[in-house]
Amino acid sequence: MDLSTPIEKIPRIGPAYQKRLKRLGIKTVENLLYHFPHRYDDFSNLIPIAKAEVGGPFCFQGEILDIENLRTFRKRMILTKVTLGDGTGKLTVIWFNQPYLVTTFKKGDYVCLAGKIVKKDGSKYLSNPAYEKIPAFAFRASAGKPLQISENLNFDPTHTGRLIPVYPETEGLSSKWLRFIVKPVLQKLRNQMLDPLPEIIRKENNFPSLQKAIWQIHFPDSLEEAEKAKKRFAFEELFILSLFVLKERLKLARERAIAIPINLDLIKEFVKSLPFKLTSAQKKSAWQILKDLSRPRPMNRLLEGDVGSGKTVVAAMAALNVAKAGYQVAFMAPTEILAQQHYKTINNVLKKFGLNIGLITGKENYYKNKKISRKELLEKLKNDELDILIGTHALIQEGIKFKKLVFVIVDEQHRFGVEQRAKLCQPIRDRGGTGEGQSPIPHLLSMTATPIPRTLSLTIYGDLDLSIIDEMPKGRKKIITKIVRPKDKKETYDFIRQQIKERRQVFVICPRIEPRTRAELGTGQASQQTLSWMEVKAVKEEYEKLSKEVFPDLKVAMLHGKMKTEEKEKIMFDFKNRKIDILVSTSVIEVGVDVPNASVMVIEGSEKFGLAQLHQFRGRVGRSEYQSYCFLFTDRPGIAINRRLRALISCENGFELAEKDLQIRGPGDFSGSRQWGIPDLAMASLTDTFLVAQTREEAKKILEKDPEFKKYPLLKERLEKFRERIHLE
Ligand code: ADP
Ligand code: MG
Repeated sequence: MDLSTPIEKIPRIGPAYQKRLKRLGIKTVENLLYHFPHRYDDFSNLIPIAKAEVGGPFCFQGEILDIENLRTFRKRMILTKVTLGDGTGKLTVIWFNQPYLVTTFKKGDYVCLAGKIVKKDGSKYLSNPAYEKIPAFAFRASAGKPLQISENLNFDPTHTGRLIPVYPETEGLSSKWLRFIVKPVLQKLRNQMLDPLPEIIRKENNFPSLQKAIWQIHFPDSLEEAEKAKKRFAFEELFILSLFVLKERLKLARERAIAIPINLDLIKEFVKSLPFKLTSAQKKSAWQILKDLSRPRPMNRLLEGDVGSGKTVVAAMAALNVAKAGYQVAFMAPTEILAQQHYKTINNVLKKFGLNIGLITGKENYYKNKKISRKELLEKLKNDELDILIGTHALIQEGIKFKKLVFVIVDEQHRFGVEQRAKLCQPIRDRGGTGEGQSPIPHLLSMTATPIPRTLSLTIYGDLDLSIIDEMPKGRKKIITKIVRPKDKKETYDFIRQQIKERRQVFVICPRIEPRTRAELGTGQASQQTLSWMEVKAVKEEYEKLSKEVFPDLKVAMLHGKMKTEEKEKIMFDFKNRKIDILVSTSVIEVGVDVPNASVMVIEGSEKFGLAQLHQFRGRVGRSEYQSYCFLFTDRPGIAINRRLRALISCENGFELAEKDLQIRGPGDFSGSRQWGIPDLAMASLTDTFLVAQTREEAKKILEKDPEFKKYPLLKERLEKFRERIHLE
């Protein structure tokens, strides 16, 4: 067995467990060892029974003097009752609903138990403790004195008597099981593990060696040791990430692209033609993009801006500059509706510039505002009769050949997975060569409304390649945000009715219904399937209620993930065209769709969403001159929840909210970490600005000294693995 051994070959992992592990992305021994605990239970406080008092957790070692199963009358539960003795006294131990324990233990066994002591109805007992057996020979017993583990037998407890690793929970994979599997593997392999961190970096930062750290992060001697190990791995992951990003940038910097000079007269004319004044953030971003385009190196820029901040017009300006220089532009959106929306907008803002603009989707194709067959459209594309082609994934299908593609725009880029994004750019690059010189590749502009925490975007894009629109167009009214308690629901519904009378429209977002009991879910936690099913159930229930009871006279429709794509698109279309008054949907409705006439956003169970996500929902209204409203429904108006929801009321800036969200909920919940292919620990460390800067510096140093990693073959290997992962995920 070595690190690359597949988990199927690890003893004691049956097919069911193999499946569960794979669901976590654990395929090899190495993956398993790098699946780190997220916290530790402190079961190290070993005390004699004589000293037991209510509280804990405490750990006891002793001999089982008695064991039996009892049935409680009231709750029809089975209790397993044990009497434990250690020479200093006797202790009652009770487990609930684990009747099989009577066969696990027998009188005379030596055990180590850890848990809390409680007192109920006058009797004191150790409740539901963690347990493990201790080999009899490990004990040194003497009459009247406490039983003790003999030091020289070197018995190392796994589930009790120490800091116990607790792993992120997953269906059917308990921490106990993971400890049981991980420990022997670790014992066997840790001395074979080679440290990818260059020694000089390790020394400078006083990091433990890999062999030490990997043990201490799973089975720490102290919390400080665990913390040191964790920091080391966080550094390692961020370091690899930085190396990867910097290396990609170096690679890109060696590529050639067509430089498009900035046509100032054209830009001025465009800005003048707009029905509004650009915000200064829009101007600044547009300028950065135009500057990039004017260089003979491929641009790789992210344009980040809140929903409604006006990214499309910035992209349109850049596209105009490129198209007028005689080259082609591709503009990609994740859904059909969005692509159509962009087609309309771009046609509109560029109408006086005489460009040929086309639309390609899975269903329909347009050319200069007329329907056209796919074949004809592709013909035009090849013959350079098309300046800007807007489309969905259809843009990257086989057979799409540009003549002079120079500029690629990807909207809502976070909606594409890492692998998809790679495909999106790569094939266009491959096919899009202009044929001039050494096959230049197109400039790439990605856009997103998902506010990425600043430290993450800096890590991925660096200062140079990030444009932020952090201000809203003037004249937008502030969206009025309110927390609505159950007793105020009726009043809010009356208000909604009034808004619809005034011809406005309403979104209602539902979180999934949480199961009340474990039994409702069968065993353990819910699978992904069950969860999305529950989301659909929530939407259906809400839809029934609103359409039949609350607003039977209005047009209510629903939208959820289990509907067919065409059905979904039709509903969105009808909503856009005011054929629907109220749209009830899951949290996954199309992000960028512009429905300026919608003025009310209702979020059911708002406490279940993160701040950043709530802010995204809210951003779907308030896109016009109408006063808009966001109602945060909650049945759980607790203080903590209120504090969170209040942050939303007081703060309008998506970036600030994203940072707040990161602080309040932790990065585990940060939407999109998976999409970025970033390891959990690196993600968790992104709040540590200092560490982020430090890893970046170290990565730069290494790359300057040894760009091909001749002296660091292990680093090179890790980097290759990282690349593979990013492309596969
Ligand atoms: P997003 O950044 O979410 O993609 P859009 O580009 O869809 O935003 O813009 C939202 C709306 O704001 C559009 O209707 C657009 O015409 C309008 N808009 C864009 N910039 C400005 C501006 N500077 N002033 C007023 N309205 C603007
Ligand atoms: Mg948009």
